[in-house]
Amino acid sequence: MTSAVADAHVEVKQDLKGNPGPILLLGAPGVGKGTQAKELAAKWGIPQISTGDLLRYNRDHGTPLGLKAKEIMAAGKLVPDDLVNQMVAERLKQPDTAQGYILDGYPRTLGQAAWLDQHIGAEAGVLPVIAVSIQVGYNELLRRITGRRICPVCGTIYNIYLQPPKVDEKCDLDGTPLVRRSDDTEEVFKERMRTYESQTAPVVEHYRALGRFEEVDGSQPVSAVAAGVEGAVERLRNSEQKQQNRVQG
Ligand code: AMP
Repeated sequence: MTSAVADAHVEVKQDLKGNPGPILLLGAPGVGKGTQAKELAAKWGIPQISTGDLLRYNRDHGTPLGLKAKEIMAAGKLVPDDLVNQMVAERLKQPDTAQGYILDGYPRTLGQAAWLDQHIGAEAGVLPVIAVSIQVGYNELLRRITGRRICPVCGTIYNIYLQPPKVDEKCDLDGTPLVRRSDDTEEVFKERMRTYESQTAPVVEHYRALGRFEEVDGSQPVSAVAAGVEGAVERLRNSEQKQQNRVQG
């Protein structure tokens, strides 16, 4: 690595830590958005905002939103845009989002993307959205989804095929019996994939066309995918910074 490249790398890393701005993690169910978002959010000191987690919280606490979303989620379909947009709007008002956030599982329709583009664009001084899409093949996704197990106490995610716990179906950290998400069955996965292809794949194309977009191969080990996403975010912020410097002369 030449010193100029090394310097640029260090400079961008410092920028990201202070103010990474809004980042979208896109990809089909099971590509590892949640795992990557958690890791990078912790590293950059910004929140991970997962619409799936927010909806599950509402469902499990029986809120009016949760009651409306419950059946839709169980069937692997999408909760209506206006409900999800409103939920995201509320979350983005929290002060912890000021320096940036990672949106995980949102936007999932062109309607949500249009709302987000308008909502974020409207706020002065906020960095533009950048999007990273994680790609994994269908059969691998099926294995990941049907093998996924979660500790209901600490939230650690396992996979009985790929990252099994030391003791069968028990959390390594606290020994709690692991649970399976109710929509992680093969039948619901197939419906979620149909929903993804028809409604969410166009969102990926929307951000590809806007620029400030990169794709990462999600079939690699978790740490390699994390490095790929991190590199993509750095490059995207870096090129945007250069563009701004050119505009400012
Ligand atoms: P996830 O944890 O991201 O796989 O989301 C679980 C389920 O929550 C999805 O299958 C949808 O039913 C619902 N959901 C999550 N995010 C959204 C969204 N952005 N728009 C509509 N429905 C969503």
